Amino acid sequence: MIKVMKFGGGCLQDGPAFLKVSEIIGRQKQTAIVVSAVSGVTEQLLAAIEQSKRSEKNIPGILARLIQKHRLIIDAILLPGREKQRLLATVHSQLTQVRRLLTGIAFHGDLTPAVRARLLSCGERLAARLLAGLLVSRGRKAKALDAHLIGICTDDNFENASIDRERTRKNFTNRVKPLIHDGVIPVISGFFGRGAGGAITLLGRNGSDYSAAAVTYALNAACLEIWKDVDGFMSADPSLVPTARRLERISFAEAAELSYFGAQILHPRTIEPLAGTKARVFIRNLKRPESPGSEIVAGRSEREEAVASITANRSLANIRVHGAGIGSKPGLLAGISSLLAAASINIYSVLTSHTCINLLLDPGDGRRSLQRLKAMANGVIKRIELEEHFALVGVVGDKIMEKEGIYARIFSAVAREKINVEMAAAGASPVACYFLVKRPDLDRAVRAVHDEFFP
Ligand code: ASP
Ligand code: MG
Repeated sequence: MIKVMKFGGGCLQDGPAFLKVSEIIGRQKQTAIVVSAVSGVTEQLLAAIEQSKRSEKNIPGILARLIQKHRLIIDAILLPGREKQRLLATVHSQLTQVRRLLTGIAFHGDLTPAVRARLLSCGERLAARLLAGLLVSRGRKAKALDAHLIGICTDDNFENASIDRERTRKNFTNRVKPLIHDGVIPVISGFFGRGAGGAITLLGRNGSDYSAAAVTYALNAACLEIWKDVDGFMSADPSLVPTARRLERISFAEAAELSYFGAQILHPRTIEPLAGTKARVFIRNLKRPESPGSEIVAGRSEREEAVASITANRSLANIRVHGAGIGSKPGLLAGISSLLAAASINIYSVLTSHTCINLLLDPGDGRRSLQRLKAMANGVIKRIELEEHFALVGVVGDKIMEKEGIYARIFSAVAREKINVEMAAAGASPVACYFLVKRPDLDRAVRAVHDEFFP
């Protein structure tokens, strides 16, 4: 029985963290590992793109910082010797690729989505090499594998690609399973795959969770452990609500909604590749391996309480499109969404009425969207406003729609705190309800709802 273990960037931030990871992997047999980039490296690569666009002179500094970060880890995990030399050489050759790509960006002053994806994939590729090097030095047979070369197949969306789990499984049966049968631990880079056209594609921020689920499917593994630096899913963010509890079990649907609404525990699409399988999925805490974490179960979580968790999304932009009767103008919404889609802007949620269309967006997309939509203002659309002061509270639970009075309890709890609900949507998903409040009210709103359901 194969087990897949995924280690996120938060588990790979420095030498001691790498050592802890290798301890957790221990003597495990029949295992495949999936890794994110070392903590902060994806952000460094993203910043590197902007810095290189500005000037080629910034590139040596960028590379020096990346080398330093990985070098410190290598120094902490490997004694001087052949293995260390080999690993340093590998890191340098990866970073040569980074340098070439950045030089190209500096030269053009811009980059294609394919170049961006290739560049960002380097963080995970480096981390996989470091961990494989460490395991080898501890006497294990381990091998770093690049996701695109072993055939994690996706569509051609460079930013937020979807994995083709069947084609991936075929490739893994030929290229990865035989390694595992030979006692090798494959250490696979998460976050990216290979598009239909053969180029590297990204799976979206935090995408290596999604990679790990695809690997679990592709290897027909019995179990996926997603190792993080938190205890698993909680009834609320413990930094906001000190009485928050760990959730022992949570359903796939609840986990997906929570991730979508802002609990930054999992990539929202993580469990998609596991639909219809019997694989067990656990979130575990590297800092407290004795804690059982949370299990994500297919079907229902079979919990007593109607509400599983309350989540908060601090930053959201709302675009409000005003006009007379715009809610009943055929094609208007399609026009708006295709305009934004053309600019790769994702609409988080839409709420419409007869006179208003509200579009919830990532805060970084607010101004861009406003500009684009203003070009569309005509006789029907009277005014377009950008509101940047909202925050979202999401309430998630398998039974939320099934029991009467749940919504009443949610909104009464908020009203008792004298907090105004600016907008609300319920029923869009059978397991989630969300509402917007003014940003300064957010923490109190989350606590009020949590106290109501977890007294
Ligand atoms: N390194 C990527 C990111 O930071 C992917 C991941 O961490 O899963 O988004
Ligand atoms: Mg990360």
